[in-house]
Amino acid sequence: MRLTTRTNLAARILMACADNPGRLLKTAEVANLCNCSINHTAHVVQRLQAEGYVSTIRGRAGGFALARHPEEVSIGGVFRVFEGDIPFAECFDEKTNTCPLHTACRLRRYIERALDAFYHELDLVTLHDLVQGNCGLSALLSLKPEMPDDCRP
Ligand code: SF4
Repeated sequence: MRLTTRTNLAARILMACADNPGRLLKTAEVANLCNCSINHTAHVVQRLQAEGYVSTIRGRAGGFALARHPEEVSIGGVFRVFEGDIPFAECFDEKTNTCPLHTACRLRRYIERALDAFYHELDLVTLHDLVQGNCGLSALLSLKPEMPDDCRP
């Protein structure tokens, strides 16, 4: 099992936003922080905006920022958005399925249960949980010269 790059990138972008509160982030600087192409980052930001996770302001002075409080951003919810349109196994999409076993396969039910457990764990995690007091992450993602108050020595 492996997350798609866009899901992982969505999480990185949201953490970058949460670690830079009160600041509009540029796609290029976040791409640099997240070690990803500007193009790929822009696509994910666009999707995050469409789903209401970030708000954007156009123009030279523009950028994007979190549109919700970090406590209100469920990581499970983010993962569902970005992984939800990709069938985990071929038979999960009845329209395109070609697996000949689907009428008698027991494996599918176990995979469904495993996925439910996977998402259940991530539903319990918020963006706040990932960034609050995480001084190591702040050192990597914060664009301000100073560290958050709770990370100062
Ligand atoms: S083997 Fe079972 S779980 Fe896998 S694609 Fe076929 S029907 Fe689905």
